[in-house]
Amino acid sequence: MKKNIIFTIIGLLVILTSVNAQNTKHISTKGLAVFEKNGVFKPYKFSRHAIGDNDIHIKILYAGICHSDLHHVHSDWGKEEFPMVPGHEILGRVVKVGKNVTKFKIGDYAGIGCMIGSCRICEACKHDHEQYCEQGPIMTYHGIDRYNNNEHTQGGYSKDYVVAEDFAIKIPANAQMEKVAPLLCAGITTYSPIKYAEVKNGDKVGIAGFGGLGHMAVQYAVALGADVTVFDITEDKRQDAIRMGAKRYVNVNNTEDMKNLNNSFDFILSTIPTQYDMNMYLKMLKYDGQMGIVGLPAFANMPTISLDKFIWQGNRKIFGSQIGGIKETQEMVDYSIRNNIYPQVQIIKAEGKLVNEAYKNVLDGKVKFRYVIDMSTLK
Ligand code: NDP
Ligand code: ZN
Repeated sequence: MKKNIIFTIIGLLVILTSVNAQNTKHISTKGLAVFEKNGVFKPYKFSRHAIGDNDIHIKILYAGICHSDLHHVHSDWGKEEFPMVPGHEILGRVVKVGKNVTKFKIGDYAGIGCMIGSCRICEACKHDHEQYCEQGPIMTYHGIDRYNNNEHTQGGYSKDYVVAEDFAIKIPANAQMEKVAPLLCAGITTYSPIKYAEVKNGDKVGIAGFGGLGHMAVQYAVALGADVTVFDITEDKRQDAIRMGAKRYVNVNNTEDMKNLNNSFDFILSTIPTQYDMNMYLKMLKYDGQMGIVGLPAFANMPTISLDKFIWQGNRKIFGSQIGGIKETQEMVDYSIRNNIYPQVQIIKAEGKLVNEAYKNVLDGKVKFRYVIDMSTLK
């Protein structure tokens, strides 16, 4: 009898030790990284922190290529750490959950966007705007995870991610999974300012820059009943804009297209990633109109506004907007899937050479409209 009790206790200790060992075990993974500024993508092995009690471990299925990834690889916004595995448009499947996790179970689909942590107690976090956390949001890559031993974060062009369940988005099982990843950045970054500007049925809305973000913005504004005009620098996307529900397409390099636009828009959203003339768009706003800015060109190439025009032209407002909070991201995912709003994607295999080519094509305006890497093909 006594012997049995001793064996049971030893058995329990063995189980507890092995559970504990599992929980402290780092997760080995691999991805595609650049090893220097403007570098090329090559396979890279690294590890992620062990799954904590409130974390989920996902196997990544798809990762979108956002223009912000290019800005980081090119160090457009300041110094960066290398090697860097970019990717903040992530769709994966849950393979393990920590013991306190309630939102996810094994087999569920989960999304991760641009951030994976914040202080949760500051004014911004309390208002569900974790992206403006006063201590700084922890970015999905190129970040320092102060809640996990200051781990240098690496992004979604990889096989695995470990994330606190509160910073993962639930993806309905009926979604078109190969198209979901870009919603996690391109989707929320355009949905949020369109909602903030209170765009409504009949409003005249301009979307400047018709790429990954822009083509999502068009779809959200059209879904709200707005009369949408698209601005871009190429003829190649004219038909696409009309197909997505825009009323008018303006090639800003075409003088005919540029006629009769001043004082006509309630709201303009700029997703432009390069230098451009902000004053030109300000003039197009109606009295009391507003402009939202999400496109962030390289620091060395930043557009400016002329204050005299800004002040003299009457109550026009400009606001900047960064992604969206977790609550709003969940709302956007649910709304998009319910209303069949998805990015138009080009799926590529997870090979360094193909990702290098994709980066070049994004810069050259040759993608319609978002590259998505099939991470299951990473060798
Ligand atoms: P894309 O490259 O997919 O799209 C940009 C589009 O803008 C392209 O269609 C491009 O033209 C067009 N364009 C370039 N120059 C002009 C111009 N002068 N006038 C009009 N259109 C122009 O980029 P993304 O949509 O992925 O990202 C856009 C920007 O938004 C980037 O700066 C990115 O870093 C930023 N971003 C900001 C976020 C935020 O939270 N605020 C989040 C995510 C991204 P072409 O047809 O030649 O390609
Ligand atoms: Zn992005």
